[in-house]
Amino acid sequence: MFNRKIKITVSALMAAVLLSGCSGNSSSDSTENNDPVNNNVEAVSYKFEGSAAAESELYVEPIAGLTDSFIRGADVSTYLSQKESGVVYKDFDGNTLDDAGFFKLLAESGVNCIRIRVWNDPKDIDGNTYGGGHNDLETAVRIGKLATEAGLPVMIDFHYSDFWADPSKQKAPKEWAHYTFDNKKQALFDYTKSSLKTLFDEGVNVTMVQVGNEINNGMAGETDLTRINELIAQGSAAVREISSETSREIKIVLHYTNALENGVIEKANALNAANIDYDVFAVSFYTFWHGTAAKLTERLKELKELTGKEVIVAETSYIYTDNDGDGNANSVSTESTGIALDYDISVQGQANEVRDIMQSVKNADGSGVFYWEPAWIPVEVYDPNAANAAEVLERNRTAWETYGSGWASSAAKTYDPSDAGVYFGGSAWDNQAMFDFNGAPLESLRIFKYVFGGTTAKLETVRVDNISHESGIGQPLSLPETVPALMNSGAYSDIPVVWNSEQSAAVNTDEANIYEIDGKAAFDGTDYPVKCALEIKKINYIKNPGFEDLDMSVWAINGNGVAREQDNNKRSGLFSLKFWDDKPVQFTAEQTITGIPAGTYDLGAYLQGGDAGSKSVFELYITVNGSTLTAPSKVSSWQNWDNPVINGVEIPEGAEVVIGVKVDAQAKAWGAWDDFSLTES
Ligand code: CA
Repeated sequence: MFNRKIKITVSALMAAVLLSGCSGNSSSDSTENNDPVNNNVEAVSYKFEGSAAAESELYVEPIAGLTDSFIRGADVSTYLSQKESGVVYKDFDGNTLDDAGFFKLLAESGVNCIRIRVWNDPKDIDGNTYGGGHNDLETAVRIGKLATEAGLPVMIDFHYSDFWADPSKQKAPKEWAHYTFDNKKQALFDYTKSSLKTLFDEGVNVTMVQVGNEINNGMAGETDLTRINELIAQGSAAVREISSETSREIKIVLHYTNALENGVIEKANALNAANIDYDVFAVSFYTFWHGTAAKLTERLKELKELTGKEVIVAETSYIYTDNDGDGNANSVSTESTGIALDYDISVQGQANEVRDIMQSVKNADGSGVFYWEPAWIPVEVYDPNAANAAEVLERNRTAWETYGSGWASSAAKTYDPSDAGVYFGGSAWDNQAMFDFNGAPLESLRIFKYVFGGTTAKLETVRVDNISHESGIGQPLSLPETVPALMNSGAYSDIPVVWNSEQSAAVNTDEANIYEIDGKAAFDGTDYPVKCALEIKKINYIKNPGFEDLDMSVWAINGNGVAREQDNNKRSGLFSLKFWDDKPVQFTAEQTITGIPAGTYDLGAYLQGGDAGSKSVFELYITVNGSTLTAPSKVSSWQNWDNPVINGVEIPEGAEVVIGVKVDAQAKAWGAWDDFSLTES
């Protein structure tokens, strides 16, 4: 379909092949050279390997050993709906971008692959769009052509649904809903092959194909794992067939989410057992929902080892602001519950997250990372306090309904009545875009090239948070000499602090009390005010009592299903001693206390959890010179803390003291211990 003629030299063509993203670490041959548009000369100029440090205010440390073939993808599936709604994107100089300019900006910024989702039929019987970018095949062709013309290869993401497919929903397309399973398999094969044929006929350079989207719990209306794998096999066979017929190398990608959960390992094992033919095991990984970048590395290594396939992160993102830009509440903000916003909420924090995810994937010898929807910004910027707020919101709603630029339109209720049908609206992602609410690119967009050579920005302190400190009654006051500072690298660093001497001198260490001490932390010649909430209290003789320290060597843990974890099972701080297992949960966790002065003591701890069964045993204990006292405990529900205590324990001088907890509960019991204390009565 293309009639553009592009003159290319042999060396340029070779470079284009070498630079083709979306193909992972393995070298791709030149099978995609049949169509001249796939080798757009512009792609040749974007080579970042070996770059020197770039001038930027953004602090970026280079990722050692990164090659141009490492995928730095962007999913811009809502782009056309946005443009049709009147959204304007600009370049770094403030110039308005046309479509070609937009994709060129992405490529110049280091993006080397475009991901596009495809829904079979995202509209109601009257032709009204369901929204979410209205990503039917025709939309994929149009976005795919723009990407291809900018030298960016494409990963197609088939949802095999008429709207969003994810762990909570995998509804079959309307047309397939009443098919027999055999007919559905055939339909999925035919649809995959014919859609890819259309994309190729239209000149779209598809190099990777996702057979399904976040298919942990289903695909195309099927939830049985055997059936899901049969459907995957059909999609895979269709990709291999069109690949062979068109002499194109296409990688087959299978995509799951909740990467740290063990269900993902089960799915990988099931793919092995079913001998499914694919090339890339992909996961969604959002740090605020799923875990730390370091844990991602471990899991990707495990998956790569288990499957023998390439591994990638098919979706990640991070918020750069806590504000909403369009009058539709955002998916992720500081008001969201049960999430960990471990990076700074800023353009720098967003860049740090993306860099860390790329580093994690690189550390696991993975092939790349895609950023999800960096261009999904407000149609018109909505300020709830502005005089014209109601009019702006009405105009936004009209655009979402008409062009599908919101996450769902009211028409989606016929297909997804309980979610889209109720909560339809605008962009829940505008605070995770890499363009500001007015369409100007954020400096974080350039993270995709800055990771090669890093930047010239100096390491600086972003923020010093106030601290709390405890000191024992009768102990000399000793305030911390350093405080943790969040650096623009995304990591915390201990920097020196000086505390107000008058306030420190006024502290009475002989009585329980709470004080606030002002401090001045300093890094590289700049001062940062910091406050210390000081509590003079009884000495707690238990070490690492709330599991906040990574070094767990003071705790002797014997048994199964128990570990120090950072999640929303904690009582205070960030961590707790969490338990769960799919077999009976049985363990003891104890520590030996030495150097405790003779006296009378109280032992306490906190426990919450559930599903432990009526015969479960939870017990707090203390053993002094071989003689043991216990206090029973129990679990009832999440964050409902029981507080077992053993009061008045006589401890003689030089005694051998062991404190601990014992758990003996049925399979799938879950919960956490936290905040142990052993203090003088
Ligand atoms: Ca929003």
